[in-house]
Amino acid sequence: MTRLLIMGPPGAGKGTQAQLVAEHFGIPAISTGDIFRANVSNGTSLGVEAKRYMDAGEYVPDEITNNMLRDRLSEPDAADGFLLDGYPRTLSQVDFLDSVLAEQGAELDYVVELVVDENEIVSRLLKRAAEEGRTDDSEEVVRNRMRVYNEQTAPLTALYAERGLLVRVDGMGRVEEVAARVENAIVTASRSA
Ligand code: AMP
Repeated sequence: MTRLLIMGPPGAGKGTQAQLVAEHFGIPAISTGDIFRANVSNGTSLGVEAKRYMDAGEYVPDEITNNMLRDRLSEPDAADGFLLDGYPRTLSQVDFLDSVLAEQGAELDYVVELVVDENEIVSRLLKRAAEEGRTDDSEEVVRNRMRVYNEQTAPLTALYAERGLLVRVDGMGRVEEVAARVENAIVTASRSA
């Protein structure tokens, strides 16, 4: 049973790492960003609502995000463990996740923070924007996403550190190297627990 979060600024490679690490531990990677994007592609009312915020680099309101997350966590594949990517991003989401897990008699095991060089990742994001034509990755929007992350989400790592759950991992380097670091850090933390 492994319940993990992966945190880090936009462009830190969270999505890719989440996939690799989740596969390694045999748990589903759950990305709220991916769920929003799927809703946008399918033109659902949730997608229409979320797109306005995503395109501006803002967070989708907590109430919408929290309900969506609760639904996803109630699916059978998440019963025994999961790796959340991109959630929680606000203090209210931290509280909400705590309450959803408490209802299941569960709790988080570890919170992985990918530590990266911010200038480096801004240039990564701009490159990705050009390659993928993502409407939420213009330079102005990238800078806004970074600002929103620093204001609302970066402070949450201190909270998880206080709980003794935070595992900080160097996020710079090749994808496979970073994934191996994350996996080792989790195994090491669980041995010493
Ligand atoms: P991501 O792929 O995780 O960077 O998410 C893409 C976009 O989806 C974000 O910029 C937000 O607009 C929205 N989003 C994803 N996860 C959340 C969340 N936990 N809270 C609020 N908005 C979110």
